[in-house]
Amino acid sequence: MKSFTFERPDSVVAAAKAVADNTNAKFIAGGTNLLDLMKLEVETPTHLVDVNRLSLAAIDDTPEGGLRIGAMVRNSDLAADSRVRQHYGVLSRALLSGASGQLRNKATTAGNLLQRTRCYYFYDTSKPCNKREPGSGCAALEGFNRIHAILGASQDCIATHPSDMAVAMRVLDATVETVTPDGQTASIPIADLHRLPGNTPQIETTLQHGQIITAVTLPAPPKGVQIYRKVRDRASYAFALVSVAAIVDASDGKIGSARLAFGGVAHKPWREPQAEAMLAGQTANKALLDHAADAVLVGAKGYGENNFKIPLVRRALNAVLTAATQSA
Ligand SMILES: Cc1cc2nc3c(=O)[nH]c(=O)nc-3n(C[C@H](O)[C@H](O)[C@H](O)COP(=O)(O)OP(=O)(O)OC[C@H]3O[C@@H](n4cnc5c(N)ncnc54)[C@H](O)[C@@H]3O)c2cc1C
Ligand code: SF4
Repeated sequence: MKSFTFERPDSVVAAAKAVADNTNAKFIAGGTNLLDLMKLEVETPTHLVDVNRLSLAAIDDTPEGGLRIGAMVRNSDLAADSRVRQHYGVLSRALLSGASGQLRNKATTAGNLLQRTRCYYFYDTSKPCNKREPGSGCAALEGFNRIHAILGASQDCIATHPSDMAVAMRVLDATVETVTPDGQTASIPIADLHRLPGNTPQIETTLQHGQIITAVTLPAPPKGVQIYRKVRDRASYAFALVSVAAIVDASDGKIGSARLAFGGVAHKPWREPQAEAMLAGQTANKALLDHAADAVLVGAKGYGENNFKIPLVRRALNAVLTAATQSA
């Protein structure tokens, strides 16, 4: 690990300014991703701005009937909150499917959203990686790409976003609240927070340097059954190969509305409005579920080792929609 300086500001604006004033500075929250990357020298910030002293760890009801989750709320606390468990089951289940109890006790809401890809070559500094070193190439394209993207990837990067929580927040239409270094607040729909790789995979979000996440707001609980299904190599302590977050309002086998988000398939939590529109108002049957899967998989491309993800998305979606309509 390279040496670095450290500060622990008392205010959000002071923290944002401290990062903005130094191009090599980073925020640190739970540190469960950043410190790993620093130990491997994948990331080499020269200054760390610790956000643990900021008052951002509350979960509050909003006047609109939703929840405002502070950026420093630990993943364990969020998953265990009675309001989350009762009204946002998809979020609680997604959180509990991630990492381990010890990691969830440290990991924070903002840090989880901004954790970086688990692409093996991103972590291996002896290999080319456009995300780590722009212009160096992508070792995963011709390499072992079992965990990589099938949707929205580019020839410059086929990495996926690893967060389970972000997939649940995407299906819930969360909004990310931020403060810019000049003290202004800015709200970002979660759909617009993460970027696709294009030819700049090193730019992962729409946040500017120094823009700090202060909270995530959830709208009032949506109607319907909430499911999070995560397909992975082991029953616990493994990232998703494919995950599906679903909120399905159905009765007597007829789907009123369906909201679907997918993890493990793209550089950001993936949502396909056409598939959701196709399901609304229809009676669930094999042909309908197949059409919906076709719509989700438009443009899907495997890179060899990860070809299996295409039928896996289809099967996972089928299982989730069948479970949702049968339990309604
Ligand atoms: C062994 C292991 C297994 C794991 N398994 C899973 C899994 O199955 N599913 C899953 O979803 N995750 C998994 N994780 C990832 C874990 O969830 C993340 O490491 C964690 O959520 C990151 O949160 P943190 O607070 O520790 O972030 P940090 O490491 O502190 O920070 C991460 C990034 O967020 C930035 N940041 C932090 N706070 C703010 C803020 N307020 N505003 C702006 N930027 C900020 C930091 O600068 C940094 O770039 C696993 C991790 C490990 C080590
Ligand atoms: S997939 Fe992206 S993160 Fe992985 S090696 Fe290629 S450029 Fe790097």
